Amino acid sequence: MTVRTRFAPSPTGYLHVGGARTALFSWAFARHHGGTFVLRIEDTDLERSTPEAVQAILDGMNWLGLQHDEGPFYQMQRMERYRAVLAEMLANGTAYHCYSSPEEVEAMRERQRAAGEKPRYDGTWRPETGKTLPAIPADRQPVIRFKNPLEGDVSWNDVVKGQITINNRELDDLVIARPDGTPTYNFCVAVDDWDMQITHVIRGDDHVNNTPRQINILNALGVTLPQYGHVPMILGTDGQKLSKRRDAVSVMDYFDKGYLPEAMLNYLARLGWSHGDDEIFSMEQMCSWFDLTHLSGSAAQFNPEKLAWINNHYIKAADNQRLADLVRPQMLKDGAEFAGAPDLAAVIALFKERANTAVELGQAAMLFYRQPAAEQALLQQHVTDAVLPALRQYAEACKTVEWNKVALSVALKQVLADHGLKMPQLAMPLRLLLTGQLQTPSIDAVVELFGREVVLQRLNVIAG
Ligand code: GLU
Repeated sequence: MTVRTRFAPSPTGYLHVGGARTALFSWAFARHHGGTFVLRIEDTDLERSTPEAVQAILDGMNWLGLQHDEGPFYQMQRMERYRAVLAEMLANGTAYHCYSSPEEVEAMRERQRAAGEKPRYDGTWRPETGKTLPAIPADRQPVIRFKNPLEGDVSWNDVVKGQITINNRELDDLVIARPDGTPTYNFCVAVDDWDMQITHVIRGDDHVNNTPRQINILNALGVTLPQYGHVPMILGTDGQKLSKRRDAVSVMDYFDKGYLPEAMLNYLARLGWSHGDDEIFSMEQMCSWFDLTHLSGSAAQFNPEKLAWINNHYIKAADNQRLADLVRPQMLKDGAEFAGAPDLAAVIALFKERANTAVELGQAAMLFYRQPAAEQALLQQHVTDAVLPALRQYAEACKTVEWNKVALSVALKQVLADHGLKMPQLAMPLRLLLTGQLQTPSIDAVVELFGREVVLQRLNVIAG
């Protein structure tokens, strides 16, 4: 058997972190087996589906590198096929036309509720041998209902949750096509999973209730069932369901916030799945490990600190030029002047140890790409008469010193010794004069990166 998995988002918004995680699991499992990962867009909800949302999903998948092997297939483009299957089912008696009006269905539900029964379709139009159906009302378009088995159980061994069994009496004769002939959700999913020969359906556990319905439809179609695995939802930091308002739930929000895709994937992988104590691993490793075991049956909690820690790990490991290309657009928006300024990749190298996000990295790097504007009070506090002679001597030394960190450090120490000063007494005013702020990486590194010309020009204000 060739493993075939799918990700089947409804394009009603962005790619949600929960969706991205199930996509990752489906993708990794297909990769694990050298199988096929299918992307299917479930766009039959015309009121809520938009082309922008389709694009947002494709962008999110692309950013994460969750490449599909087949698709995207769009359900709206498969209507002919659904209609053909509906016709077959009507012909072989696994589905039937139901002429009960919505008002009648509502009234039957009311009656059942009043009698303390579970509301369900009462089978008025369900054909049975020996049963006479009512006369077809004039001018009424029927829905098509699935002829759900009346007896027995639907049972499957869920890859995540174990054995799940539902009695057929719990299930209704599901409407599988509306009066205008358009097929409904569970029916389309079942037909798609069949046609796309999906072997493993991995999805959120909000779909557990749909599974017995889909299984019954697939059984009626005489199809070998896929295996199902329902992963629990992701909770926010407060233990509640991730919320649009409180949490960043769109995957692309994390791109905007400066997370690297490899960090995001690594983090998502650990939400509800584990491989021993491994926290940091590559997608190659994940794909080699991910065999649908060790999926957790309980909800995972989103932990922004851990994500930041993982992101920091990947930022430290990332190529400086790649990071530079990533942060440059935002820095330009923030007014960075790159002409005559130090090479951004070299600046990145100086800051990346401490950055949790690329946004933080860009903000830190701005130090080298804007004019220093130290507060007057700070200048007065640090550029005192007591240190001016030393600063001037350092500026003088900068004219001729060999321009590398070691030589600059020797020159600085010489000035300190000559004037009996301690490092901060000289480093702080230098930081202020060169960058406008007191917090910078090591002063020698800063001086070296700015280069002789900029350093001399910025120290010119203290020339005697
Ligand atoms: N379209 C469904 C959703 O976005 C997923 C259906 C499925 O995976 O079976 O929640």
